[in-house]
Amino acid sequence: MSKMDQEPFVKLEGVKKIFKVGDKEFLAVQDVTLDVREGELVSIVGPSGCGKSTILSILSELHPATEGKVQIGNEMSPFTPGKDIGMVFQKALLLKWRTISDNVLLPAEILGLPIKESRERARDLIEMVGLGKFADAFPQQLSGGMQQRASIARALVHDPRLILMDEPFGALDALTRERMNLELLRIWKESRKTILFVTHGIQEAVFLGSQVAVMTSGPARMAAHFDIDLPEPRTLDVKTTEKFGAYTKEIYHLLGMD
Ligand code: ADP
Ligand code: MG
Repeated sequence: MSKMDQEPFVKLEGVKKIFKVGDKEFLAVQDVTLDVREGELVSIVGPSGCGKSTILSILSELHPATEGKVQIGNEMSPFTPGKDIGMVFQKALLLKWRTISDNVLLPAEILGLPIKESRERARDLIEMVGLGKFADAFPQQLSGGMQQRASIARALVHDPRLILMDEPFGALDALTRERMNLELLRIWKESRKTILFVTHGIQEAVFLGSQVAVMTSGPARMAAHFDIDLPEPRTLDVKTTEKFGAYTKEIYHLLGMD
């Protein structure tokens, strides 16, 4: 079966979210339609306040959609958000009194997974994200980029089927961010996870995504989504190509920034 015939793993159709605060209603996002194939890395890009985090909170069932269809997984395998989702946020949110190894282990502990296997898995993941020498270190001994690597390992430890990343590299300096982009692509390939990656960085969205969804604000909605057809594996010099430029130009246009 080719990639395109595959049933989407995540399907959003006409999704709308209204937040009720007291007797007031806020339309957070509307017109969200997106298919994510299993194993795909999809970027969601848009300005602050356009509803990117809201989409992730709908998928993690923190805030269910007000309207529209949300489907994750398929009928053969019921989906349980706590177990099947791994989250990475802008802040690494590591517990400072736990070692990196014990931080990575935390979701497995919370879910009550077998501890010996989970420890082995945590060790392998710490190795995979390039922190092998820091397993027994404490968070404050690590740089921002290294802490974010640890939080990616933590998101993978319970072997979730879907990873949601909410501006994970937004607090990093520009060079560390580029390095982390490359690292994320490597980790994605190695772990074969389905990843939804939220960012307000247009270049970052195009560089990482096999598909990009563009959100606009005022009113907050998903304006477009399209496949990114760039050579794999992606290297930083792809950013200097004409095709890369054309994709970023299209997004600037959709955001009304041209
Ligand atoms: P983004 O992540 O793209 O910056 P958000 O999804 O956080 O945007 O927010 C989209 C809109 O929804 C914003 O106007 C925000 O104020 C509103 N919003 C988000 N979460 C809540 C909430 N829990 N209650 C009320 N309004 C919310
Ligand atoms: Mg947000």
